Amino acid sequence: MTRRAVADIEASRLPAEQLRTNFSDVAPPLDSHQALIAAQRCFYCYDAPCTIACPTGIDIASFIRSLATEDRRSAAQTILDANILGGSCARVCPTEVLCEGACVRNGADRPGAEQQPVQIGALQRYATDWVYAEQAPLFTRGADSGKRVAVLGAGPAGLACAHHLARHGHRVEIYDPKSKPGGLNEYGIAAYKVPDFAQAEVQWLLSIGGIELIHRPGLSKTVNLEAMAADYDAVFVAVGLAGVAALNIPGEYLPGVRNAVDFIADLRQSEDLSTLVVGRRVVVIGGGNTAIDAAIQSKRLGAETVTLVYRRGFESMSATGHEQEFAKAEGVSLLPWAQPRQFIGEEDCLSQVEFERTEVDADGQLVGTGAGFRLHADWALKAIGQKLDAVPLAELALHRGKIRVDADYATSMPGVWAGGDCAFSEGDPDKQDLTVQAVEDGKRAAVAIDRALRGEQE
Ligand code: SF4
Repeated sequence: MTRRAVADIEASRLPAEQLRTNFSDVAPPLDSHQALIAAQRCFYCYDAPCTIACPTGIDIASFIRSLATEDRRSAAQTILDANILGGSCARVCPTEVLCEGACVRNGADRPGAEQQPVQIGALQRYATDWVYAEQAPLFTRGADSGKRVAVLGAGPAGLACAHHLARHGHRVEIYDPKSKPGGLNEYGIAAYKVPDFAQAEVQWLLSIGGIELIHRPGLSKTVNLEAMAADYDAVFVAVGLAGVAALNIPGEYLPGVRNAVDFIADLRQSEDLSTLVVGRRVVVIGGGNTAIDAAIQSKRLGAETVTLVYRRGFESMSATGHEQEFAKAEGVSLLPWAQPRQFIGEEDCLSQVEFERTEVDADGQLVGTGAGFRLHADWALKAIGQKLDAVPLAELALHRGKIRVDADYATSMPGVWAGGDCAFSEGDPDKQDLTVQAVEDGKRAAVAIDRALRGEQE
């Protein structure tokens, strides 16, 4: 790197102690007294709207009632029965638009109603944390069915599917080339949201038995999907979206321009935060949770300015209003209605990013206005979405760049199911790429696979 780059992109911008504080748990757990008070605020609604709003359909009123009687084990059982990654979801779900958003305590428009929802996410964490700490066995493996299932991907969808299949007695082999299981929970979510947690949860999940983790890709030049489907009784594809989208604009490969997902993964895997480099003036491009996570992490690593630029208005960002407000409180500037036009280098390193103002035209299309501006930046993070690496899956029918599945998560190839971020279901075209949704996909696909396998037996 040039001298200028070394000066602007560096590690240890903050003292080690400050870095440790910045990347510790952003939402500390409730203690037993706080949990009891929070649980007693629940109305235990019949037909609870929070349960309807939870993609995994956790019986929230029931688990909170267990907590109100200080029965943490029953509470955990209720949560994990519906959502085997309930610990992760308690930390990363956008609760303000899911369960807590539906809580009737949000009754600001009803006289006398309190405005704050029940702290469902925090209570879910309180109910489940002891399970991982003690590695408590809550579920048992079913009697061996003699069937073998291959799962491609050890992320939330793959793990949820594997656990449900193990409960039904099927033997599962999970293929994943990464050194640690967990998928996005391990590599793709900001470090301050899930510090040192994902592996304890996976270890507990795998302790049911009957699930083998194989650290290599399942598909290769010599093993295609058809061969794998012939070798196993069923295959579940849950490979996520591993490909990174490109902007295809000048300067995209200048030193200082990075993918936000790589930056987050580096931070999650770092054992010494003081070795991680970050720019002095950072620009983040995108409007989802990855963009917000990358922006906040840059600030917490010591970047002087961080500007997040999004091509549409705030209301169109997939990051929730809560996440946006959190980013602003952390000192991140949010700049809507602009798209990048080029990355400009100086001495072979990024020095500015040029943007064009955008608007929606009379036909509802997003268009550039022609007006431009530049932001000084020595570090730019692209968080413009990820895409399916479709090459190894060429035998499957795709739709909108994802694997097309039916309502039972079956793909176009007999014996092969798919779920999580890599799958597109015509029955649920607006499905969001959330951890909790991936868990539900894995669970439902497992039900369909189990039914198919038992049908074969019958
Ligand atoms: S899994 Fe997520 S959405 Fe469902 S109850 Fe728990 S925190 Fe809420």
